[in-house]
Amino acid sequence: MKTTFFNILIAGFSLNICSCQNTNTMENKTSQTDTAKISKSSEEWKKQLTSEQYRITCEGGTEPAFTGKYWNHHEKGMYECVRCGNQLFTSDTKYDSGSGWPSFYAPANSASVGTKEDKSFGIIRTEVICSKCGSHLGHVFDDGPQPTGLRYCINSAALDFNKDKENKK
Ligand SMILES: [Zn+2]
Repeated sequence: MKTTFFNILIAGFSLNICSCQNTNTMENKTSQTDTAKISKSSEEWKKQLTSEQYRITCEGGTEPAFTGKYWNHHEKGMYECVRCGNQLFTSDTKYDSGSGWPSFYAPANSASVGTKEDKSFGIIRTEVICSKCGSHLGHVFDDGPQPTGLRYCINSAALDFNKDKENKK
């Protein structure tokens, strides 16, 4: 009888351990999709960034078409925020839009980027920002390819490229 009771106790503990592990895994996933916002002063960003990166990501600037380092870049990997490393776009959704800017039909995941209305230059456009640090990335238009029909038109200067681990070998 004692043995049976002991076995039940162990089984109970094991279940508890399992459920704890599951919870932890879920928490990790949540933090990866991003929650912690990053906030820095203009001075801090100026120290971290080149003047071109600052002009685009902090002041909503745009690099000239066909000049950035990623518009014609075709390696497999992840495009990350140049300011905070947030994973923004994967090479899987990158396509050649002919615009001269890196173009994607979807973000890496729905929490990667945010959008807000931009009325500068007398045109109403939708600005794309990094959901973690608020960096200006570019704009999103509704003339992209399927399956989304969206075109995320992003400045190379707002991005850092991280090759897939397999390609690094
Ligand atoms: Zn960012």
